[in-house]
Amino acid sequence: MEIVLRNLTEDYVMLVYNEISSTLDCCKCDQCRLDVISYALNRLKPRYVVTSEGELMTKLCEFDYQFETTVISELTKAAKVVKANPRHKLNKDENK
Ligand SMILES: [Zn+2]
Repeated sequence: MEIVLRNLTEDYVMLVYNEISSTLDCCKCDQCRLDVISYALNRLKPRYVVTSEGELMTKLCEFDYQFETTVISELTKAAKVVKANPRHKLNKDENK
């Protein structure tokens, strides 16, 4: 079984982003999506684990409700910042 080093916070933020992205008032192009995620990640504590890919989901389930709330709050803030200063190419505005 392959053993990997993962930042659980990163996987979790991606997961939460996918769940709530439709409620975020922000462009969803790759640039903006990753900008939102990196903004949130820079404000959250990383949580590194050595695990196998198979166990990753189990580990992600260990995050509690309080942390989910924190992640949603950071993603919401991030979406506002990115929306105000989108870095995608303005000549092909995908902000719809
Ligand atoms: Zn965009």
